[in-house]
Amino acid sequence: MIEKVLIANRGEIALRVIRTCQALGIQTVAVYSDEDYNSLHVKKATEAYHIGEAAPAKSYLNQEKILEVMLSSGADAVHPGYGFLSENDEFADLCEKNKINFIGPTSASMNLCGDKMECKAAMLKANVPTVPGSPGLVKDVEESEKIANDIGYPVLLKSVYGGGGRGIRLVNNDTELHQAFESVTGESIAAVGKSAIIVEKFLQKTRHIEYQMARDKHGNAVHLFERECSIQRRNQKLIEQTPSPVVDSETRERIGDLVVKASEAVDYTNLGTAEFLRSDDGEFYFIEINARLQVEHPITEMVSGLDLVKLQIDIANGEPLPFKQSDLKMNGYAIECRINAEDTFLDFAPSTGPVPDVTIPAGPSVRCDTYLYPGSTVSPFYDSLMAKLCTWGQTFEESRTRMLTALDDFYIEGVETSIPLYKTILQSKEYKSGQLSTDFLKRYGMIEKLEQDLKDEKSEKSKAAIAAAIIHSEYFKSLVQNRQQNNSNWKNRMS
Ligand code: ADP
Ligand code: ADP
Ligand code: MG
Repeated sequence: MIEKVLIANRGEIALRVIRTCQALGIQTVAVYSDEDYNSLHVKKATEAYHIGEAAPAKSYLNQEKILEVMLSSGADAVHPGYGFLSENDEFADLCEKNKINFIGPTSASMNLCGDKMECKAAMLKANVPTVPGSPGLVKDVEESEKIANDIGYPVLLKSVYGGGGRGIRLVNNDTELHQAFESVTGESIAAVGKSAIIVEKFLQKTRHIEYQMARDKHGNAVHLFERECSIQRRNQKLIEQTPSPVVDSETRERIGDLVVKASEAVDYTNLGTAEFLRSDDGEFYFIEINARLQVEHPITEMVSGLDLVKLQIDIANGEPLPFKQSDLKMNGYAIECRINAEDTFLDFAPSTGPVPDVTIPAGPSVRCDTYLYPGSTVSPFYDSLMAKLCTWGQTFEESRTRMLTALDDFYIEGVETSIPLYKTILQSKEYKSGQLSTDFLKRYGMIEKLEQDLKDEKSEKSKAAIAAAIIHSEYFKSLVQNRQQNNSNWKNRMS
């Protein structure tokens, strides 16, 4: 049984994992870089160890150093969070070899899931439909050109090792393809040290719909419903919601069954996510498996009533799933907004630095997972995600309006945030009516709408200021008049 967990991560996700461990009476070991001395995860863990310099390669990605801390602190398990080492099969293997319980899938299964081509091949074998594309890795530009012309432009060039929206390029013709081949290769090598390219049909006007899956070490598997993550920028998610407005119960069950098959096809254990694209005509195409806890897992917790980190720990302990598919019910509606430190108007460039003051939203069914506190810092070395703001409601409308109130309550001093953009999106008729697609921001001109909203807000504010000034001056005039009246009354009496 797991008694002491090392959390090989930082930020809100490290805190998230520590909270569940604490509630379960499990000891926690935090690790931190030069940049994170004063972080909340360091303060909240039972023990904390410094592991190196700010750059991830020198700390949170340093497998040997982290192993050393696991062994010296006596941790019997490791939770990798998301990002960093979470999908690194060599790290999972290193833990297995040192008898440390890696809270996630086996290294072999992770290796299979991490390779988009191998994983797609396994899915096709299990009759799970995938996006049409090259049957294998493409050797060179010439081969990719031939395949692109066979399946027809537009196509995507994808590095099989890509992630977080990196290593993907949209290509419309042969000329673009030649340039893109170079840049995808470069980007993938820069991010993960290797590159291998596949060609995929670019599906237009699609929705990103994914399923949370869980499979124990005894082969029992369930899905925990879908999440729609279509609101994205640069192929990265911004807003997620569950249920999806286009998934009815028949579809939920049908695709859910496919997801269970998918988890069996790659002998998956623990929690993972199967991602799909849904075309406008309602077809689902598998794109990849994320072999870890997903950023957006809290909205699934809200509608399922489960603690997914606890479920991960139970599965890692070898316990069978405590429920069958038929025991699971979806309750209500949940939305997540990823509160990023970024400037919407500077092409989402990161905005970093000290946060002297912050007000965290609260209220009925509002959840905010964040590492922020007054006096904290947003570091330029790590992900721009500062907080995950989630709301639940009995109806979609209730969760949406709660989100708008919570966004309004959220005050973050010192850095630019994505909060204003989210207010504009959540108030738009397209979002309200569920017309979602992965190109939502561009399709409905959301950045331009935001610009207009900010102008209107400014003019509303100045109108309010003018009104206040008028009231003030009327009051002042009446004061003066009163005084004059009093003076003349007094003069009259004296004379
Ligand atoms: P995907 O893009 O595969 O759907 P997610 O959006 O759920 O995955 O989350 C993965 C992303 O989280 C990574 O691309 C990475 O940029 C980011 N990330 C990695 N480590 C951290 C961290 N400690 N805190 C916040 N974000 C992180
Ligand atoms: P990552 O590993 O970076 O998360 P994914 O393969 O999951 O990469 O794709 C990320 C996003 O890119 C998707 O959510 C979707 O918006 C877009 N995308 C990926 N593949 C396709 C495709 N074949 N057609 C259209 N859009 C795609
Ligand atoms: Mg993905």
